[in-house]
Formats: sequence, C-alpha cells, structure tokens
Amino acid sequence: MNQNSQTPCEDADFFAGVPDSFQRLWTPHRMTYIGGEAKPATKESQDCPFCLGPQRDDETSLIVYRGDTAFVIMNLFPYNSGHLLVCPYRHVSDYTDLTDSERIEIGELTAKAMRVIREVAKPHGFNLGMNQGDVAGAGIAAHLHQHVVPRWAGDANFLPIIARTKAVPQLLGEARALLAEAWK
Ligand SMILES: [Zn+2]
Repeated sequence: MNQNSQTPCEDADFFAGVPDSFQRLWTPHRMTYIGGEAKPATKESQDCPFCLGPQRDDETSLIVYRGDTAFVIMNLFPYNSGHLLVCPYRHVSDYTDLTDSERIEIGELTAKAMRVIREVAKPHGFNLGMNQGDVAGAGIAAHLHQHVVPRWAGDANFLPIIARTKAVPQLLGEARALLAEAWK
C-alpha cells in the first residue's frame, strides 16, 4: 500500500484498539497546512503577520473587512478557496484573553463571513475553528485567529497526499476582491 520508502508502514496489530478492515492513510502534515500560516520566528508582535497586516492597505494584506476590534483576512495558505481568518487587532493568543467586545465582534464577523462566502461561492458546508497553542496545530499560536473554511462535496482528494499539493482554483487577490465587494 505504502509506496513511499521514507514513511514506514506499521502493522495495526501492534497497537491498542479494535482492528477493522480499513487501511488508513495518516496525514499529520495536513494539520499544520490547515493551520496554514508562515510561522514567525518569535512570539513578538513586530514579527506577527496578523499585527503587520492591518498596517498595510487591504489589497496588499489581503484584508476583506476591518471591524472595530477585529478584522477579516484571507489565509495566505488556504485549505480551500475563500479560506478566511477572523483576528482581533490585539496581539493576544488565548480565547480567554479577549475582551467581551472582541469576542462578540469575532463571532459576528464569523457569521458574516459565512454569509458572504455563501453568496459568492455557494459552498456545501464550513469548518469553523480556533487552534489554541502550537500543540493544537496553530500556525501562529501567539495571535488568535478564527478559521472560516468553506467546504464543497469532493474537495478532499488524494492530491495533497500523493503530491503534497492542494488544488486551490482561484488566486487570493481575486478571491479577496470578490469577498470584499460582497461584504458591503
Ligand atoms: Zn499579532
């Protein structure tokens, strides 16, 4: 089954659990990919893409919308077309660090992002989520970000596994322009 000699294939009989007839392809690298972002070298805000982004114009930073306490930005390493991130302006890492108004606005922007993506791209479903901490797969753990990932039936295929490539059939700049326009 496994043709990649670099990746050992272990017999499931040696592990705890209930064996069944399925073969499984474990792809832990996907989690970091979904987390997505280029990791900054330090935890300082001057190296943080979510702190630097709002300081530049929307087109350059791929910002879709700026709220009072939080903003919406395209994920530079999208899992799917239209993969958005909702971030507070403040460089805080944990959901419990947010003020009430930040938490409320992040929730509202998440719902609005879903409505806008539905209007523009007609997805069949969404993955929403926040990875809290490096161990949970956060690409930039130091600055909290809520993922909004549109999903279409059949969007998960073998390409990421066999070619380490994810097909994303739309340029980020074009997607940003469409979403920013629909946001109004
Ligand atoms: Zn930051």
